Amino acid sequence: MSSRIIDGKSTAEELRKRLTGAVAGLAERHGLRPGLAVVLVGDNPASRVYVRNKARQTAAAGMRSLEHRLDAATGEAELLALIAKLNGDPEVHGILVQLPLPPHINEAAVLNAIAPHKDADGFHPVNAGLLAGGGGDAVVPCTPLGCLMLIKNTVDDLAGMRAIIIGRSNIVGKPMAQLLLREHCTVTIAHSRTRDLPGECRRADIVVAAVGRPRLVGGGWIKPGAVVVDVGINRVDAGGGKPALVGDVDFAAASEVAAAITPVPGGVGPMTIACLLHNTVTLACRAHGIQSPL
Ligand code: NAD
Repeated sequence: MSSRIIDGKSTAEELRKRLTGAVAGLAERHGLRPGLAVVLVGDNPASRVYVRNKARQTAAAGMRSLEHRLDAATGEAELLALIAKLNGDPEVHGILVQLPLPPHINEAAVLNAIAPHKDADGFHPVNAGLLAGGGGDAVVPCTPLGCLMLIKNTVDDLAGMRAIIIGRSNIVGKPMAQLLLREHCTVTIAHSRTRDLPGECRRADIVVAAVGRPRLVGGGWIKPGAVVVDVGINRVDAGGGKPALVGDVDFAAASEVAAAITPVPGGVGPMTIACLLHNTVTLACRAHGIQSPL
């Protein structure tokens, strides 16, 4: 059996096209231009690439992109003051602080300082609480939101399906579990202390791997016909010192067994930024009491 490849790149492209149309409509009908402020502290090379891509895609969708690049030595108080300013700026509808922050800054204090109604990443405890409560008003973290969109494009009716999420982080694993629960799946959250992870995995109709361990999930872990979503991004040596990106799933082996599977790269990754734009448009509409066109 050979799996259907779940194409995150083209799904993200379609979503961005829809967002661009929605943004044009908001400008025309309501004079509203959604604005996203991205804050980067320091010069982590991967973070710089992420921030550049986020800003580029925000502007390409016709939205306002505001970038704040701060020196690595910036103090917590100065960062909190910037967030307070952005919280009060009516042109800013979404705020994102790129993680990780330098070690002298308390990450939780900074994320908690973002106004929940401008929390484009959905990391604020108020939004996590709303999601856990099953409320539709929660801002949902971008990566799990993108995974859910890919799963819903692949499976007609999720109700009653067994899902396993491998990984229990606040930004991927836990919100992913809440989203699948909201879709009426029977959800298992597995993690580093789970006993018999392969056995747990083999019972699942949907597998979401968000671990950060290259090719941890083998082909023998997958129930025939399951849907596999690989969130992992791992840099490995492809031989001769050449780097390659691989996921948490052994793609070659799992794609022999699964009904559908996301590749790495080109699966979940491209959906994350598209979902960030999606969240910002939603927040801008809410701020102005406009029904979201999405
Ligand atoms: P994290 O390190 O915060 O969490 C990893 C989780 O995996 C933990 O809950 C841990 O208990 C679990 N774990 C670790 N080793 C395990 C093992 N051997 N067996 C079972 N569980 C184990 O990571 P994260 O932020 O959730 O990210 C996970 C992966 O997803 C990383 O590779 C990251 O780069 C990637 N990621 C991708 C995107 C994207 O846009 N595609 C976004 C966020 C994260």
